Amino acid sequence: MSEIPSLTVAGSTLQELLPPLSEQEAVTESARCLMCFDAPCTHACPTHIDIPKFIKKISTGNLLGSARTILESNLLGATCARVCPVQELCEGACVLGSEHKPIAIGRLQRHAMDYVYGRKIDIFHAGKSIGKKVAVVGAGGRFGDAVRKA
Ligand code: SF4
Repeated sequence: MSEIPSLTVAGSTLQELLPPLSEQEAVTESARCLMCFDAPCTHACPTHIDIPKFIKKISTGNLLGSARTILESNLLGATCARVCPVQELCEGACVLGSEHKPIAIGRLQRHAMDYVYGRKIDIFHAGKSIGKKVAVVGAGGRFGDAVRKA
């Protein structure tokens, strides 16, 4: 298991709640996903990320594609991977939870997002200006939707 990293913000040291998954742990965990056709995990996600799709991409080593799938639904994918109450949302709805352990969706999401942000990869680029501005207040993870539709 990897060491739990810490983050320094405004002089205070904050610890991550859970350690990041190693490459091998992420591939092993993603391979447990049943790729459910009706994906109750996706329905339970407030931003409706296509969870089996991004997990499948992790299992095939396509972390860039996985992050793209996450960000297409939720521009705050990296933050949500850390702060969402996944036990009550996606992981709480995982069909494997009733008899086995639910898929560690939050940690897999963080794995994909850390891959692109750690390498400073820009997945989306600003489009040509149309001369309009928008302000979004209190939109949470749905912020990305609002921006794309503006
Ligand atoms: S419910 Fe669980 S097993 Fe099914 S697609 Fe979602 S994460 Fe995979």
